[in-house]
Amino acid sequence: MDVLTIVTQRVSNFVLSLQPWDVLDILVIAYLVYRLLLLVRRTNSSRLIKGVLVVIIALWLSSGRLRALNFLLSHIVEWGVVALIILFQPEIRRVLEQVGSSQLPFLQLFSKPQVDRQTIEQAISQTVSACGDMSKSRTGALIVFERHIQLDEVLRSGTKLDAEVSSELLKNIFFVKAPMHDGAVIIREGRVLGAGCMLPLSRNVNLSRDLGMRHRAGIGMSENSDAVVVLVSEETGSISVAVGGMLKRHLMTETLEQLLRNELLPQPEEDDEKNGKKRKGWKALLAKEKKDGGKEDE
Ligand code: ATP
Ligand code: MG
Repeated sequence: MDVLTIVTQRVSNFVLSLQPWDVLDILVIAYLVYRLLLLVRRTNSSRLIKGVLVVIIALWLSSGRLRALNFLLSHIVEWGVVALIILFQPEIRRVLEQVGSSQLPFLQLFSKPQVDRQTIEQAISQTVSACGDMSKSRTGALIVFERHIQLDEVLRSGTKLDAEVSSELLKNIFFVKAPMHDGAVIIREGRVLGAGCMLPLSRNVNLSRDLGMRHRAGIGMSENSDAVVVLVSEETGSISVAVGGMLKRHLMTETLEQLLRNELLPQPEEDDEKNGKKRKGWKALLAKEKKDGGKEDE
């Protein structure tokens, strides 16, 4: 018998021996693994998970032979579980709340959370309008649009809000004499969730010397997450956007709007992308901007 026949036979034996409870068992485990993967993705904790895996593998390899190392690692794992629960306390709490509040969690198993397109379109146009005005009045601004990776840690460093995005609100927040003008505004799913937030600074040593702290913080945020960061310079009034550690400077409001729509709204072309066609990304747009007289840095 060749390997293929043995494998097919074993698989069919396994499938035939399945009881209804086994199917439920598998579904529950699949759901839990799915939630865990979502948690890892949203909290940007893949490095942490890799570290945990390395410790577990080292523990397994050292068992029986390297007794001192094994003793040490097993204690690290014991305390590590407590440390992980403390570290992920807000996320675990949110997942449990979500499970408790959804009536039929299995029905939502593989469905993506629905993004309200209209709210996001509104948030984009209000942000663009505010940035245009702040650019003219030379008001410094730092606006972070959260995407998949949740920025709870950053939100905790600022003042909590929950408001519709409006041009007036943004201009009010960044008005020089306003108490919350320092730091960043965080926008999640088209709502302002926080202001005065501290962002991580970029560790890139090759950044242009004329970039100050605001721009370094914006670039840092885009290096550490998948967020889209919009900046208005207080010194020059120029509008910039940082995505994935890249800063595009001196944008016109039209380009800013198109860029935000491309990055934040679900694209109809996404299907084309899956079929191998390339989506018209922000690089293409910026090439156009450059041709029209804008500049790009970094
Ligand atoms: P601009 O062109 O507006 O002057 P810049 O890049 O030169 O910007 P600074 O002049 O250093 O930056 O701007 C300082 C402002 O940037 C601070 O008042 C604060 O509002 C904001 N800022 C600085 N560091 C952070 C940070 N880590 N997180 C959020 N905001 C920050
Ligand atoms: Mg400055």
